[in-house]
Amino acid sequence: MNAVTLPETTNLLGFDLDGLAAFCEQLDEKRFRATQLFRWIHQKGASDFAQMTDLAKSLRDKLATRAHIAALPVISEHLSSDGTVKWLFDVGAGNAVEAVFIPEDDRGTLCISSQAGCAVGCRFCSTGHQGFSRNLDTGEITAQLWFAEHSLRKRLGTEERVISNVVMMGMGEPLQNYSALVPSLRTMLDDHGYGLSRRRVTVSTSGVVPMIERLREDCPVALAVSLHAPNNPLRDQLVPLNKKYPIAELLASCNSYLDKAPRDFITFEYCMLDGVNDTPEAARELVELVRGKVSCKINLIPFNPFPASGLKRSSNERVKAFADILIQAGLITTVRKTRGDDIDAACGQLAGEVQDRTKVHVRMVRAPVQVHFVKSGKPGSAQG
Ligand code: SF4
Repeated sequence: MNAVTLPETTNLLGFDLDGLAAFCEQLDEKRFRATQLFRWIHQKGASDFAQMTDLAKSLRDKLATRAHIAALPVISEHLSSDGTVKWLFDVGAGNAVEAVFIPEDDRGTLCISSQAGCAVGCRFCSTGHQGFSRNLDTGEITAQLWFAEHSLRKRLGTEERVISNVVMMGMGEPLQNYSALVPSLRTMLDDHGYGLSRRRVTVSTSGVVPMIERLREDCPVALAVSLHAPNNPLRDQLVPLNKKYPIAELLASCNSYLDKAPRDFITFEYCMLDGVNDTPEAARELVELVRGKVSCKINLIPFNPFPASGLKRSSNERVKAFADILIQAGLITTVRKTRGDDIDAACGQLAGEVQDRTKVHVRMVRAPVQVHFVKSGKPGSAQG
């Protein structure tokens, strides 16, 4: 799809309601006009000011010369046999980002991206292997939800809300793009926007401790933390940010986040990597790490293998044995269902086909992952 060339006007998807009110003030318009406009955009999916018939003609004319409402150009759309939909959006200069819609019986979840690429470089992550290109702006983050919600409504022939949950788990580390993230979260939560409850909006982070503390004050939504290892030596290798914010600091910030969080637990994501972090020793060490220390749920994620990782998915038996140890120890544990396997719906897998800017994966696969069991004292190594 070719990008539409727009005049130099402001994309209104880039504003939360306060931002839109400030924009309207520059046009000598009152706040209630901004609220009407916001509802047209986010609740009705309008992109043409002429549709907004309850706005004065003079305001519509002003808006037409100063503003626009534009989605990101869609490079491709993939529909899985299980109903999962994945879009690849063009964000310019050869960069692409992904959003994935996952329908379930009781909810519709949209996973969206916050950055083109990612600087954190997690070992098991396809996006991390592509390196970092740039932060998305607020409009580009919100545009993924705006487009997905309204295109799904059209497809399903409904005026009812389709997306009930948003997870910031697509490409990028959202807390490394904080100033663009927060207005987008506010638009999701705003009753005049998408009206999602704080419990149904989840920010997933690899553990940017100072920003967890800021999010707690500014916009506390549900928090998921990419843990993936029960000790620092292994986590240093899987999630390099751990060298800066090691596990003890991270868990302390999780506990402090819970004071204001909309849920009474933190979700710890744990990607199951064959022979690396999936052993019974690792499970027992994980129990020791979190039990009684932080209120949490553990979400075990089957690894989606991609060639450059040099890592393998844990067998179902291994995942079950790991989960059993956690459950017997009293930890609430879930195993994420894989969805959209036929369309590569895991984070970063399509965008990686579009661009690998830094060749970071070449550096990453050279070093095999060393396995450390801090308590059991049984170090070993796995194929990297
Ligand atoms: S898992 Fe998240 S933080 Fe880590 S490299 Fe991938 S996108 Fe970045």
